[in-house]
Formats: sequence, structure tokens, C-alpha cells
Amino acid sequence: MSKVCFGVDIGGTTVKLGMFDEEGTLKYKCEIPTRKEEDGKMIIPDICDKITEILTINEISKSDITGVGLGIPGAVADDGTVLKCVNLGWGIFNVGEKFKEIFGEVNVKCGNDANVAALGEMFKGSAEGEKNMVMITLGTGVGGGVIIGGKIITGVNGAAGEIGHMPMSDDEEGTCGCGKKGCLEQYASATGVVKVTKKILNSTDKASKIREIENFTAKDVFDMAKSGDEIANLAVDELGKYLGKAAAHISCVVNPGVFVIGGGVSKAGQFLIDRIEKYYKEYAFFASRDTKFILASLGNDAGIYGAAALILS
Ligand SMILES: [Zn+2]
Repeated sequence: MSKVCFGVDIGGTTVKLGMFDEEGTLKYKCEIPTRKEEDGKMIIPDICDKITEILTINEISKSDITGVGLGIPGAVADDGTVLKCVNLGWGIFNVGEKFKEIFGEVNVKCGNDANVAALGEMFKGSAEGEKNMVMITLGTGVGGGVIIGGKIITGVNGAAGEIGHMPMSDDEEGTCGCGKKGCLEQYASATGVVKVTKKILNSTDKASKIREIENFTAKDVFDMAKSGDEIANLAVDELGKYLGKAAAHISCVVNPGVFVIGGGVSKAGQFLIDRIEKYYKEYAFFASRDTKFILASLGNDAGIYGAAALILS
């Protein structure tokens, strides 16, 4: 067997692992549950055990591993120190050092999961070959990854790319998960679009099919908008407006070649892209008005591809 590397995406519920060859072709993938009990102290040992098991099954020796890339749901400094990972129960420690302590000497690289997913889309996804790109992940919250000149921009303490917490409104009364008011993710996430829709519904007597759905989701809002529902379209418009404006701000700072839109909400497809683009063009500086918006293509595998890319690129 030739050389292999591992891309590991540590999530709050599952850890995804992928084994890649030197060209970055995925050879094997699996997932294990994330054991968060006892401050998440079993997470790294579990990953080490699983990698050892995969090596045994595939008859590969430890010396054939070129490295292990880890995507972590929190701020990660360039040396692999996590500053605090509330999702996993982790405090402050160096993940790379811990990994080597348990697994043995191996090249380990760590990155924030949203940044790593962006790297994955640049490595083998819809932004393949694009060295200047920004990924916006629309899920329960809004995540982001900024890659300039082929390098992830992490900033002084790993907080670069926290697009979801860009301040967008002074009038917001609700509080964001981060403690501030008026963050992008309060409008442009799956939960945000539902909240915005409810607000519009409460402000008018206009008929809408959404009124008939109990506990409607972001998907319902998009489905209804596609079928021409006026209220749903107002909500999608609001989301498009906030995202278009946020992207225009980002373009003024880093001028990417492309914005990649991923996450659960991106399943709304081109309909969503068109809506963001419409507002982006209104807000963008003239020199970056034609920046492309595309859908992510790796789905849940973006993290393992990106983690492998930490080793391979
Ligand atoms: Zn926030």
C-alpha cells in the first residue's frame, strides 16, 4: 500500500473519519459517536483507536501515514491549541500534542471545522482550484471560512471567518447565541429564517400557506417561497438581503473570486443563490460586483476532505 493520510471531522454528535491516498482520493470513510461525557476526554482516544482499526483492516502500517488532519468545532490557534470547545466540553489544550501522546509520533494539523470545510470545497469540491474563496455555511447557525492565496485566514486567535456574528442590525431585540444582538445568523440561518417568517406572519393578516403548518421549518419556508407564497418570499428576501449585504462587506475586505454556499439551508439550491446574488449586486463595490456565488458540492464530506487537505496541500 502506498502512503495514506486521514481527514477527521469532529462534530458535536459524530466524528467522521476519511482515509485518503496521496492524490486526495477518498479510500475509506466511517463515523463514530462523539462521546462528550467527562469533558470530552474520550474523543481523541476514540479517534486514535478507530484509525488504528482502519489501518489493521486495510493492512496498512503506521509508518505509511503522512499525517492526520483534524477539523474542530471551535476556535483553534495555528499551533493546534483549542481555546475552548463548548460543544465538546473541551477546555484549553493542544489537540495535536494530545493526539501524538496517545497515537504515537505522526504529523498532526488542526483547524476550525468551518474553515476546514471551506478548504475541502477548494480542494475537491465546487471551488476546486479557486485560491481565493469564502464559504458561508447556512445551518442552525451561520459558519464561515475565508481562504486567500490558498491559505485559511485564522486571525490572531482563530476567530477569523466568524461570518455568522457579523453585526448586521442595530434594531434587533432578540439575543444571538454569542450574547450580542443583530448578528447575521439571527436572520440568515435555518432558525433565523423561521423566526423572521413568524415575525412577518404576526405583522399582517395576509393569507399564507405557512400559517397552516405547525412548527414549520426553513425548508417549508423555501418550498412555499418557490411555489409563490408571498409571505415566504418576503422572508427569503430578508435572508437574501442580509446575506447579500454581508457578502458585499466581505468582498470589500478580501475580494474573493467565489462565494461557496453550503449547509442544510443550501439545499434550497439555485433559488437561494439567485436571491443572495440579487442583493449582493446592489450592495457590492463596483470592482467586485461580478463575484460568483455557487453551491457547495461535498455536503457532509467537506470536513474530512478539508482535514485531509491540511496534510496534503
Ligand atoms: Zn452572534
